[in-house]
Amino acid sequence: MPSPNRFSAIQQIAGRPPVPTPEVESLESLWARDVFTLAKMKDALPKAAFKSIQRTIRDGGKLDLSVADMVAQAMKDWAMNRGALYYAHVFYPLTSLTAEKHDGFIVPQGDGTALAEFSGKLLVQGEPDGSSFPNGGIRTTFEARGYTAWDVTSPAYLMETENGITLCIPTVFVSWTGEALDKKTPLLRSNATLNKQAQRLLRLLGEETIAPINSSCGAEQEYFLVDSAFLPLRQDLMLTGRTLLGAPSAKGQQFDDHYFGAIPERVQVFMQDVEHRLYRLGIPAKTRHNEVAPGQFEIAPYFEAANVATDHQQLIMTVLKNTAKKHGFTCLLHEKPFEGINGSGKHVNWSLGNSSQGNLLDPGKTPHENMQFLLFCAAVIRGVHLYGPLMRAVIASASNDHRLGANEAPPAIISVYLGSQLEDVFNQIRAGDLKASTDGGLMSLGIDTLPEFPKDPGDRNRTSPFAFTGNRFEFRAVGSGQSVAGPLIALNTLLSDSISWVCDQLESRMAGGATLDAAAMGTIQQIMNEHGAVVFGGDGYSEAWHRMAVEERHLENLPTTADSLPVLTRPQVRDLFDRMGVLSPVELESRFEVYGEQYVLAIEVEAKVLLRMTRTQVYPAVMEYLDALAQSLRDQEYLGLPPDRSSAGKVAQLNQSLLAECAALESAIAETPEDGVEASMRHCADVILPLMTRIREAVDGLEIIVADDLWPLPTYQEMLFSR
Ligand code: ADP
Ligand code: MG
Repeated sequence: MPSPNRFSAIQQIAGRPPVPTPEVESLESLWARDVFTLAKMKDALPKAAFKSIQRTIRDGGKLDLSVADMVAQAMKDWAMNRGALYYAHVFYPLTSLTAEKHDGFIVPQGDGTALAEFSGKLLVQGEPDGSSFPNGGIRTTFEARGYTAWDVTSPAYLMETENGITLCIPTVFVSWTGEALDKKTPLLRSNATLNKQAQRLLRLLGEETIAPINSSCGAEQEYFLVDSAFLPLRQDLMLTGRTLLGAPSAKGQQFDDHYFGAIPERVQVFMQDVEHRLYRLGIPAKTRHNEVAPGQFEIAPYFEAANVATDHQQLIMTVLKNTAKKHGFTCLLHEKPFEGINGSGKHVNWSLGNSSQGNLLDPGKTPHENMQFLLFCAAVIRGVHLYGPLMRAVIASASNDHRLGANEAPPAIISVYLGSQLEDVFNQIRAGDLKASTDGGLMSLGIDTLPEFPKDPGDRNRTSPFAFTGNRFEFRAVGSGQSVAGPLIALNTLLSDSISWVCDQLESRMAGGATLDAAAMGTIQQIMNEHGAVVFGGDGYSEAWHRMAVEERHLENLPTTADSLPVLTRPQVRDLFDRMGVLSPVELESRFEVYGEQYVLAIEVEAKVLLRMTRTQVYPAVMEYLDALAQSLRDQEYLGLPPDRSSAGKVAQLNQSLLAECAALESAIAETPEDGVEASMRHCADVILPLMTRIREAVDGLEIIVADDLWPLPTYQEMLFSR
């Protein structure tokens, strides 16, 4: 029999009335209903104005303020028709969250009436202040002017909740001196840089008509659903998103009976509700299924331009969380909500392409296209080898640390998986007798003999953090709760840098008399010679790889955030972002400060919650159990039975050590150094986290001894299997 509070939660779950399945509506009527699409603009705007905004969206360039006025008017009319009285500039501060400031359309008139107004100026620029967002010292509060500016490439939309409808406008968020305070600004910059460098390479390869090149992203989102009846009983889930305590359930995921199994009915209703909302927001939700752990699921949208996909990813997380509440669930986006079973990631599928050349990471069929592919792919290999530690740094967080390096997720060593076929092609090029052959002979080194790549190579390596999957790379180490902006910025930037290097190589080799083919092959060969160490097709989880990667291949293993975030302060990384025009040294430094601070704060909050739960919930429950044990020992003595003190002794000992560990943790929290974020991070990783683990081990040991009716915390079994 569970304790009374747990019992009532379980009863509440059993008695939940089913949430009705959302009404069946046609995809046509749902799709982008709440988005101010290009088609809606076309209907509402004069032809010239529409052409002008369309050009801005497609080719970049300034938006004419008179056009902005017309767009604002049309947008306001559409939104108010749908019942919106407020608009919000939505922006993405340096947390993983979405921020918004709401303003009414209302303008009171002198005569006591009120009008609705929305000008181009209000659409294009806002001043939300926002001085309380972490900014890593870029802005001191006394000069706290922050501006939001509409990102025309991401459409405005209506956010409808139980509480009303708001017109949402995706924006960048910059300081009054023009420094990026958000994640969207550098993402747009990284995309512009990538466009420039990729165009340069395509021109060198002889292309003449080249449409703007965009990076693309399709992000697979994993999440857990837990019945919300348990939440008030678990401070840890409520405040930190993960269980800080909890013994494993006897049955976990060992049967693999959840993965891709039939979706539980209640969850499927939830998923349909989520998908309908996403469709209305123009978000192409495509795939849904059960994941490996009990209570774990996945949703994956169809890929889109990276910038739009990133905004949509933020919306997906918001919609998942809000919709879950309506269904009596809490949606956990934490990377490791439950110890001992799989955590949640967000696989970021990434590529680049345009409307004239298509997907530039598609191996294609003709030799010419293959060379183009091989050069782009080689550029990726070079970039990942040079900046692997940066890729580790941009996915670093207190929560993702629990996942990386555990035997369920990609290791904290960044390598590239190409698939055996492609790896073989690159190895052939690497081993090619380039020195011996000249032009004609070169072709046999790979180009002509390249097999046609099937679009979906049969082999998939799920142990690699960064894998080629047919026509894109999949960055599998990204955390489920993270914004995908950071990883995309890093990938776009390191690739831009590499493409630029490739172009330099081609130019200088051809200036020295080489043909294009020879120059290309020579460049790829050089890349493989210098950077081939990052290519790895084996088991990324194995001990042998961890050793080989570090000792033989000299790749870095950066297991924690404390180890990897400081990569952002390396001169090599600072130069990369500066050179490519994506982040200035000041902007980069501020990111290091903010993310470091977030790591420290996250762990401090966890430590405090753990202390509170242990002292005020676990300890008293154990004392009560000891009382009961003492009573039964007295009874045994009274009855003349030989008293068995072993259990009581063990419990008393564990509980005693618990108090001592708690005292140690409390002083450790108080001793967090204040001389710089790097020292604080180390203290968290090296002192606080190990103490938390010790407390957890003691408590989890007690949980499986103490009488069930006294245990105050909902168990893993209850939270993972009650639906
Ligand atoms: P898996 O689980 O096998 O990795 P999924 O079908 O779940 O495959 O996810 C594949 C993801 O990759 C989808 O989000 C899909 O849209 C995305 N994707 C496909 N092509 C591209 C591309 N060119 N660029 C970016 N993402 C892509
Ligand atoms: Mg995947």
